Amino acid sequence: VDSGQAKDNIINYRKKHLGKTLSLSYETPLKMVRGQGAYLFDEQGTPYLDMVNNVCHVGHCHPKVVAAGQQQLAKLNTNTRYLHDNIVNYAEKLLATMPEQLSVCMLVNSGSEANELAFRLARCHTKSKELIVVDGAYHGNTNACIEASPYKFNGPGGEGAQPHVHTVTLPDPYRGEFLGDNPDTAIAYADSVQKTIVQLQQSGKKVGAFICESLQGVAGQIIMPAGYLPAVYSHVRDAGGVCIADEVQVGFGRVGSHMWAFETQNVVPDIVTLGKPIGNGHPMAAVITTQAIADSFVTGMEYFNTFGGNPVSCAIGMAVLDVIEDENLIAHAKKTGNYLQDKLRKLQDKYHLIGDVRGLGLFIGVELVEDRNTKSPATEQTSWLVEFFKQHQILLSTEGRFYNILKIKPPMAFNINDADKFIHVLELGLKALSQ
Ligand code: PMP
Repeated sequence: VDSGQAKDNIINYRKKHLGKTLSLSYETPLKMVRGQGAYLFDEQGTPYLDMVNNVCHVGHCHPKVVAAGQQQLAKLNTNTRYLHDNIVNYAEKLLATMPEQLSVCMLVNSGSEANELAFRLARCHTKSKELIVVDGAYHGNTNACIEASPYKFNGPGGEGAQPHVHTVTLPDPYRGEFLGDNPDTAIAYADSVQKTIVQLQQSGKKVGAFICESLQGVAGQIIMPAGYLPAVYSHVRDAGGVCIADEVQVGFGRVGSHMWAFETQNVVPDIVTLGKPIGNGHPMAAVITTQAIADSFVTGMEYFNTFGGNPVSCAIGMAVLDVIEDENLIAHAKKTGNYLQDKLRKLQDKYHLIGDVRGLGLFIGVELVEDRNTKSPATEQTSWLVEFFKQHQILLSTEGRFYNILKIKPPMAFNINDADKFIHVLELGLKALSQ
């Protein structure tokens, strides 16, 4: 049992001294003191099943990751200006998971920093800062990343799109401009990107980069129709631009069939950004690119990153890759994810509130609607369910423009028993809501 500060003290201090933009989950916030596998424990020792944290990817406080960090931290931590085995061993292992063309790895400290560097690489390579982004997307908290995130610049407190940023429609087969997950919608969505490229050209500009998550996270746990990225990548490249795949949320085997979510769309990006799960909670991230793009970044200006690629982060990143392999986590994500989606579809047959179930592996979205024909979003019911889950010690959150999508992306330690527990509580909640 925790002997630390009372929850109210922490809340008051945060409000006064930690900046008012810091947000909390739940009206009565939780205080967590320990984590293990797919579970978090509060100050009373109560276990909560964590179904949202895709950062502690191989499980909260995985012993192998913890040991790797502890051992290296006790021995040496310094920067990349000295030779060290860890950075080359880690880069080699990480690059081995990527398509051959993606042969250069730059290590940074957060997903935002990775995207920030990706934009710099793209600008150096294409000599253009014109950026195409997908509606609803979030790519990070820095200036350039906010400018690349319609979720932020079109959301509360946002200042709209900067002149160099061009938003294309969200390829959402359930609620988007073109409906259905089929080759025709993929082409229709890709054509709308081509239109933007042509408009740019007509105004005398050239596309620099297209950035897109390989599966849409913040925009609503959306699986783009097969064929979308291949068609868009080809349009962007024909116009002289480069294609950035943001794998910050969805990478490292979560999709169950591949290590990288872009592989499910059968494309090879020019730049890939990695973050969140890469260090199982330790702040690290990476940018992976081609030799040609990396060479364009050699302008005479040094690139130095104080913490990026330090021996401790590399040891931790290496341990994460080892655990994914040793514990067969990609296959596990597929099996558990398919099981969960199956059960969710059975509930969908019984309860009208469930409008759509979609996902790949352990990345799943459940979209709740008041009416299946009009698809009017069941926002209140979704938020009621999240609170109901909390009362049953399950942590979940909502996603999408209307906050009517249950977002499921648990640590990969999440298993079949956990799935059963979740389905049981979900059915209790759906029953209560239908009465
Ligand atoms: N890209 C995506 C898709 C993300 O979801 C996030 C974080 N939510 C980021 C980038 C930014 O990562 P970070 O918070 O580590 O800077």
